[in-house]
Amino acid sequence: MAVIAGNWKMHMGAAQTRAFFAELDLDESASKNELLIFPPVSSLGVAAACPDRDSRIQLGVQNIHWQDEGAFTGETSAPMAAEAGASHVLIGHSERRHVFGETNEEVALKIAACCSHGLVPVVCVGETLAQRQEGRVDEVILGQLDAALQALEGNDGRFLLAYEPVWAIGTGETATPDDAANAHSTLRTRLEAALGLAAAVRTPILYGGSVKPSNAADLLGTANVDGVLVGGASLDPRSFAEIAAAGGR
Ligand code: PEP
Repeated sequence: MAVIAGNWKMHMGAAQTRAFFAELDLDESASKNELLIFPPVSSLGVAAACPDRDSRIQLGVQNIHWQDEGAFTGETSAPMAAEAGASHVLIGHSERRHVFGETNEEVALKIAACCSHGLVPVVCVGETLAQRQEGRVDEVILGQLDAALQALEGNDGRFLLAYEPVWAIGTGETATPDDAANAHSTLRTRLEAALGLAAAVRTPILYGGSVKPSNAADLLGTANVDGVLVGGASLDPRSFAEIAAAGGR
């Protein structure tokens, strides 16, 4: 079983969300997987109530604020996301880190808010091209993971990790299965050192970065890759269904 997650980013309004679920045709093998969709928050209620949504598809939000409520214009809190139908939250997506300047400290606060409200954090880590060229992949992704693990300390709730090399997101560049295997093995080893073998094996590590139907099976067949986080290709119900089917084989 693999985790197949679609991050719609700032795409898919209410009408497009309804159309997506009406057109999505998952085959038998796809349903063996854990399926997640992260719509924009304005479409979450529509997705949650959509009669065409296969009930095996769980929903999440792409970001939260760490406070429950307050004067934070434009933000959404963890309890609000949960009430609107989210079970999962993307935390520290590279666009949050690099476009909006989100820090490891803020990522940690958001993870803690998820834990307090029964939401499953999907914590994203990944290096930029410059950091990769400087040979700093492990240093960067382990620094991001360690900050997340500190926030998770004392919580036995589930969490997911996503390795998303920044240079591969939305660029059409995909990490090779070897690049993914190396990074995922580094992350798994750190999870084991911090949480023990059983918890490390239980924690899914997803790969994200230009995943599409043509490369999903190879990536999903790579050691320590337990699923994929898909941006662009998740907007098309046929591509999403094909990727989900690749994970079920
Ligand atoms: C993402 O948004 O997390 C992502 C991996 O995007 P894309 O698949 O478009 O590269």
